[in-house]
Amino acid sequence: MSGRTHARACPERTCLGCRERAAKGDLLRIVEIEGECVPDPRGTLPGRGAYVHPTLVCLDLAVRRRAFPRAFRGRGPFDTAALRRSLERGAG
Ligand SMILES: [Zn+2]
Repeated sequence: MSGRTHARACPERTCLGCRERAAKGDLLRIVEIEGECVPDPRGTLPGRGAYVHPTLVCLDLAVRRRAFPRAFRGRGPFDTAALRRSLERGAG
């Protein structure tokens, strides 16, 4: 509609699992809600977001590194069961 390209609006984030930088759109945003890691594919949920590649490999790496408590500035452990299920079902 407008003549703008999307190229400029392409911020990068670091995957909590493999620690590689990627375009925000290539990563899955995760927010913490009452101790649970909730996938936020549309990026609409409030709160502090963490980013991982939408793969079980990167999720497992992030869990093993205890990256979620660090990202969410909480004690954890954070429940990743629902997040894992959504990855098993969805992308990949
Ligand atoms: Zn990754």
